[in-house]
Amino acid sequence: MNNKILIVEDSMLQRQILIRWLTKHSYIPISANNAKEAREIISKEDIEIVLLDWELPDGTGIDLINEILSSSPTGWLPIIMVTSHTEPEKMKEAIEAGATDFIRKPAEEIELLARIYSALRIKTLQDLLRDTAIKDALTGLYNRRYMDERIDQEFQRCKRHNHPMSVAMIDIDYFKKVNDTYGHDVGDLVLKTLATELKTKLRKSDILSRYGGEEFVIVLPETGLLESKYALDKVRDHISTHAIQDETGKTFQISFSGGVAGGDLSSVTSPFDLLKIADKNLYDAKHQGRNRIIES
Ligand SMILES: [Mg+2]
Repeated sequence: MNNKILIVEDSMLQRQILIRWLTKHSYIPISANNAKEAREIISKEDIEIVLLDWELPDGTGIDLINEILSSSPTGWLPIIMVTSHTEPEKMKEAIEAGATDFIRKPAEEIELLARIYSALRIKTLQDLLRDTAIKDALTGLYNRRYMDERIDQEFQRCKRHNHPMSVAMIDIDYFKKVNDTYGHDVGDLVLKTLATELKTKLRKSDILSRYGGEEFVIVLPETGLLESKYALDKVRDHISTHAIQDETGKTFQISFSGGVAGGDLSSVTSPFDLLKIADKNLYDAKHQGRNRIIES
């Protein structure tokens, strides 16, 4: 299990009871005394469920629901209201505000566990649904639709803070020939291999997408042009010098070309201008002989 559960509760006694129960059943409780602490924890920790008290010293749990839902990195979190309010209207209010479930105080251990179990089941399905909507099935990288949204968010964020950001567009060399000569299974293997290399060699903060057939777009937040080129060159170097082996033992050699744009954003008005420059640099890389990265 080891799911992280956030307890937002100002009563120390209540907190201690919940912490004891959760710990006993292998959950990881993290607690907040008020709304402010809850916000900070949500933004930093990988919380999977929130147990939320109604009355807090700095506001109400109801007001916090919306904030929790919108600030969660996955866009949604199960929230179980734990409250001494007993009126059915209150339950309706909580559910309408976005809570997943509602437990009356004093909570009972077995009821709490059952509600958590049910909330986690919903979350698993929700996560699966979200993954299907935003990821490319073959490589597990983000899809184009998600990247088009995300590139804009990152661009706005970096620009607001006067931080650099780079965008790279890469394309597998002679991919059509790979498919035509060896078949689509090998083509898929090549795509998956490159995706894995990108995932393992780039940083966790870099955003990777399969943008088209054999084309990938990568956003490198907080990263200058040369640093980005260097990071991609490392991947390129590895890919072009290590053979890929299919299940029959046959080996293949591939390479890719790339274009990088960005760095200082002060004179750039749209992330899609960066994509255009990256695309042009990619075109130049292809024409200068492939297996290279060009930045500008
Ligand atoms: Mg309270």
